[in-house]
Amino acid sequence: MRKICADLIIPVSSAPLRNGVVAIDKDGTILSIEEGNDLKDVSIEKFSGIICPGFINAHCHLELSYMKGKIPEHTGIVQFLINLIEYRNQRNQNASGGILAEEINTAIRKAVAEMKTQGIAGVGDISNDNYSFHVKSSGDLLFHTFIESFGFDPLQAESYFQKALQLFQEARASGLSASITPHAPYSVTPELFRQIFSFKAYHPALFSYHNQESDAEAALFKSAQGDFMKLFHQFNLPGKTFLPTGKNSLHSVIDYFPPESRMLFVHNTTTDAADIELIISKLPESYFCFCPNANLYIENTLPSFPLFKSYPDRTCVGTDSYASNHQLSILQELITIQQYFPSIATAELIRWATLNGANFYYWNKRLGSLETGKKPGINLISPVGPAFELLKDSSVTKLA
Ligand SMILES: [Zn+2]
Repeated sequence: MRKICADLIIPVSSAPLRNGVVAIDKDGTILSIEEGNDLKDVSIEKFSGIICPGFINAHCHLELSYMKGKIPEHTGIVQFLINLIEYRNQRNQNASGGILAEEINTAIRKAVAEMKTQGIAGVGDISNDNYSFHVKSSGDLLFHTFIESFGFDPLQAESYFQKALQLFQEARASGLSASITPHAPYSVTPELFRQIFSFKAYHPALFSYHNQESDAEAALFKSAQGDFMKLFHQFNLPGKTFLPTGKNSLHSVIDYFPPESRMLFVHNTTTDAADIELIISKLPESYFCFCPNANLYIENTLPSFPLFKSYPDRTCVGTDSYASNHQLSILQELITIQQYFPSIATAELIRWATLNGANFYYWNKRLGSLETGKKPGINLISPVGPAFELLKDSSVTKLA
C-alpha cells in the first residue's frame, strides 16, 4: 500500500482536500481518501502541487499522428483540410504501402506512450482506417473508437455507410468498443445522417460530431458561400450544388439526431448561447468537448467558454490530433483555457478533464474520480500558483 499526499487533492466527486492523503494498493486501486491528520507518518509520500484522477482525452485521431509538425498553422479549417489531404496523398505516392503503414504505426505507438506519460487514462478516438486498432486493443489505456462516416454525394450514402460498417465490424472483431458516427455537418448528407442513425446493432450508442468549428461552416449553411464552396468547386465535389438553409449548421441538421442519443459535440468554436440551449433541449444526453489548442492551431480562435459554465457536468476536453496540435496533453489544453479565461477555476477544469468524460463514455465505475474502489490513475500537477491556478510550466507526473 502507498499513501500519497499533496497540497491539494481534487477527488472531483467530492470537495477538494488540503493536505489530504490518498491510500492506494499495488495495482492503483484507491483504498481510502482522508484528511491529512497525521502527516508525520513517515510512510506518507508528500508532493507539492495538486493530485487529481487520470485524465480522459475525449477527442483524438490517433491515426493522424504521423502528421506531427507537417500541417501549417492558422490557415482556417478549409485550407487545413486541403493541406491534410494533400499531405496524405503525397505520402501515399512517395512511400510504398509497407513503409507508410510502418510510419503510421510507429507514430501511433509513440502517441499512445505520450498520452500515458501525460496522465491520460481513457481516450475517445476517431478512426477512418484500421491503423490504430492493434495498439488500441492491446494497450492498458481504455479506448472507445468512433468509426467516422462522411461523403458528399447523396446518391452514394449507402456505399459510404457500408464502408464504415465494414470498418466497424473489423473494430468489434479486434475487441474494441466502437460505434459509427457522422463526421461533420458539411461532410454528411441528410441521406447519410439517416443511414448512420438508423443503425441500431449496438447499445448504448455513442456519437461524436465535429460541431460549429468555423465561420466558414456557418456561411455554407446560411448562404452557400465562403471557403467551403470554394473547396467543393476546386475538387469538383457534389457539395458544389449545396442548397443553403438560411440557418447555421447546427440548426440545419439537429433534427436528424435521435433525441435519446448520447452525442459528443466537438469544438463548438462558434456555438452561442441559443445553440447550447437548442442542443440541451433537443438532445438532453449531449456533452460538449473542447480542443482549444487545435482551435488555435487551425482557426486561431477559441470557443466562448464562459457560456458553457452553466453546464459543468457536460463539458469534456480533447487533444484532437497531431495534425493540429503540438502535443497530446490534456493538461496543456487546461492551461490554455485558464490562460485565456482565468475565471474558470482549476477544480472546475479538472472536472471537465476527468469525471465528465468518464461519464460520457460509461467509464465512471473505474475512472474519472478519486473514490474508494476505483482505479482512475493518479496525476500530480506541479508547479501551481498560490491559489492553485495552472501555470505555463505546470506539468503532470503520473503517480499511479
Ligand atoms: Zn477531430
